[in-house]
Amino acid sequence: MRLDRFLCETTDLTRSLAKKALHREEVSVDGETVKNPAIQVGEASRVHWLGQPLELVGLRYLMMHKPLGVECTRRPGLYPTVLELIDLPKVERLHPVGRLDVDTSGLVLLTDDGQWTHRVTSPKAKCAKVYVAALAEALEGDAAERAIEAFAKGIQLDGEDAPTRPAELTLVSAHEARLSLTEGKYHQVRRMFAAIGNHVESLHRESIGPLKLDPDLEPGECRMLRDAEVALF
Ligand code: URA
Repeated sequence: MRLDRFLCETTDLTRSLAKKALHREEVSVDGETVKNPAIQVGEASRVHWLGQPLELVGLRYLMMHKPLGVECTRRPGLYPTVLELIDLPKVERLHPVGRLDVDTSGLVLLTDDGQWTHRVTSPKAKCAKVYVAALAEALEGDAAERAIEAFAKGIQLDGEDAPTRPAELTLVSAHEARLSLTEGKYHQVRRMFAAIGNHVESLHRESIGPLKLDPDLEPGECRMLRDAEVALF
């Protein structure tokens, strides 16, 4: 890539500031001071700005334990965003892979690889997302059986064209349920329980496809995915 683009990719410089830095002879490539913004550099080039080595940021993949009260968005709004919890250079390039509500905790994936995001979120992938919900009303006996059947069959939610896809509901206790979904309609888990006359008091996502939330991550913490984890999708 061109040297001025390399400088923009690896620092906070804009294209015009990068050109100024070159003009001021602040940049060297492989030990030689360079002023020409158009020369080609690559991963093997040793580029320094003001004596500091610069390195290209490759594609990144992270998992976060999203805490409550944080938004899965890139634009700051009413609440802090997941990106504000990440201490990495060029953090603004990352995006959350799908969303969790502000009042949902648990596993969120983030990346700057749009194709990977597509593989995780594409409806065709039918990637199962598993949630644990605390329920306001006890769900047991016949009512539990009916809920399991209704969720397995699909529920027609208000304002949706089609019923929900078959979902697997298991009861951990009368007030706690685990639900596996292969789609992500707006507020889906909360709306599904509302449709059977219950209310979700708290919601936590445990896993996305084969990836489980790392139990070592405290709410608000994140870690890079391992190569084998990235390759799962
Ligand atoms: N379903 C919900 O209702 N909320 C979430 O955050 C995720 C799934």
